[in-house]
Amino acid sequence: MRARHIDARVIDITRVEGGAQVEFEGLAPERYDLVFDARGFPRELHPEQHIDISFIPTNTAVIRRCPAIVKEEQDGPVLRHTYTRAVARPHGWIFIIPLTVHTSYGYIFNRDLSSLAEVESDFDAFLETDGVSEFEHRAVIPFPNFVHRHIYDGAVARIGNAATFMEPLEATAIVSAQFQIGMVLQMRLNRAVEYLERDAPVVNRFLVNNMLCYGLFVGWHYSCGSKYDSKFWHHARDQAWPRHRKAADPEVVDCAALRRFDDMIQLMNRPVIDKSDWNRMCAVPLTSYCQLSQGLGC
Ligand SMILES: Cc1cc2nc3c(=O)[nH]c(=O)nc-3n(C[C@H](O)[C@H](O)[C@H](O)COP(=O)(O)OP(=O)(O)OC[C@H]3O[C@@H](n4cnc5c(N)ncnc54)[C@H](O)[C@@H]3O)c2cc1C
Repeated sequence: MRARHIDARVIDITRVEGGAQVEFEGLAPERYDLVFDARGFPRELHPEQHIDISFIPTNTAVIRRCPAIVKEEQDGPVLRHTYTRAVARPHGWIFIIPLTVHTSYGYIFNRDLSSLAEVESDFDAFLETDGVSEFEHRAVIPFPNFVHRHIYDGAVARIGNAATFMEPLEATAIVSAQFQIGMVLQMRLNRAVEYLERDAPVVNRFLVNNMLCYGLFVGWHYSCGSKYDSKFWHHARDQAWPRHRKAADPEVVDCAALRRFDDMIQLMNRPVIDKSDWNRMCAVPLTSYCQLSQGLGC
């Protein structure tokens, strides 16, 4: 096994006969059999390249770093939550991730509906009720919600944020990247090269379908609004979520994600779920759908 680190900005990655060519800033281009494109999410979405899944109604995160919940030297019981929480707020929701050295808080909202000042002020109020008196501003991160139409074409494999991105409500980033890398390597290392041209569109459809199923599951969290009677939650329920049918239309996305999602909803509405259906999945298992529907009240 050999590795060579090339420290240069990638200008372009293009498919060429039998592989892909990478153009670097200030260096000669190189040609490879297989290229993983991990350049992060695109600055803007283009309909011919990206499936826009903004039926997920958030597009910005404010990150703050707070002291650790579990102190190194601690006597007595830990009285605060030590697991990750997701808490609905008027402008979106807040994640609380207790790590060993600090606690990461993030307010996820829609910058087209709420101003940063409004969000920061509600964030302050939340931290006060959560008993946190000090924090460090970390970042304000705008993000798109999308699935790339061409995650894998046989020579170029987009992975991580370059392949798909959706807000972190269900922490789908790592499992998605594992799927992308796993599927591509599995096919490239175990299948004869003469199948490559036929395999690539099948693998791509599988990955797009899977990522879109995650997107539908995440978007569904917003389908009933929340206890807050606010502009954000009205928009999420009444404007954003209803767009999922058009965005995931099988004719447009060339995969069956929407049908699979609808099947899960129908399955849950049956008076009795047949044992043979218990292990059905649409990105996540039926049990996760049932658990969430209890929380949503639908
Ligand atoms: C608010 C928020 C919270 C999140 N929380 C979590 C979490 O708690 N847990 C979790 O697992 N995930 C979380 N994620 C997801 C996390 O962003 C992804 O898992 C991870 O960053 C994906 O890594 P990546 O390498 O694909 O993309 P990135 O992290 O975006 O990295 C892309 C890299 O490519 C480089 N690059 C870009 N263009 C070029 C170029 N032309 N040439 C050379 N290099 C280039 C960039 O400099 C960058 O280093 C969160 C995301 C957001 C937005």
